[in-house]
Order: sequence, then C-alpha cells, then structure tokens
Amino acid sequence: MKYTGSCHCGRIAFEAEGELEKVTACNCSICRRKGTLMWFVPRTSLKLLTPEHDMATYTFNKHVISHHFCPVCGIHPFGEGTVPNGGHMAAINVRCLDDVDIDSLPVSHFDGKSI
Ligand SMILES: [Zn+2]
Repeated sequence: MKYTGSCHCGRIAFEAEGELEKVTACNCSICRRKGTLMWFVPRTSLKLLTPEHDMATYTFNKHVISHHFCPVCGIHPFGEGTVPNGGHMAAINVRCLDDVDIDSLPVSHFDGKSI
C-alpha cells in the first residue's frame, strides 16, 4: 500500500510504500521530546517528493541517524540511518501520514534510552 505524508506547511512531502501494521514508540532523548510514533521501512520504500535540500537535518550522539525536520514549520516527518546489518532504513513519523487511523495500530515500545 502507498501512503502519502508531509510536514505541516508542505515544504517536505513524501510517499511511502509498505504494510503499516504497527508503530513504535521510543523513549530515547529525542523521541520522547518529539512524541513521534514511528514506522520503519527500507529507505528505498520512501520517496521524497520535494527537494532534499529543503529539509533541515539534526544529528547527535554517534551521528548515525539523520533526523530530518522542516525549517519552516518545525515538524519532523522522518529520520534515516544505517542499521547494524548495513541496511539503510527510514523511520517515518506516522503522525505525518495522510488518512491513517493511528489509534487502531498496535504500539510497540522500544527502550532507546538504554542504548
Ligand atoms: Zn513545514
């Protein structure tokens, strides 16, 4: 299934392909502040519809994850990074997707704080 999503003002817009069966909440220092619910997909399943350089990017700690956000409206639509097996993944903020009934999705809790 194909999903569409964006930041609040529309400067960042994207499409994501896959089966959205669950979301992940993480308690790490950045996720708990953003309050995102994440959907992990291979980066190749995420297609950016707006220019890459329109996004601002924040990194911290080991700088392995690029947390993208909109410099205009401040919303964080997704992050991306390389996982231990070498795959390039995107963590989509499900709250930025159009027409998704978030409350119907099971939430798994990830203890990012302990890493
Ligand atoms: Zn925006």
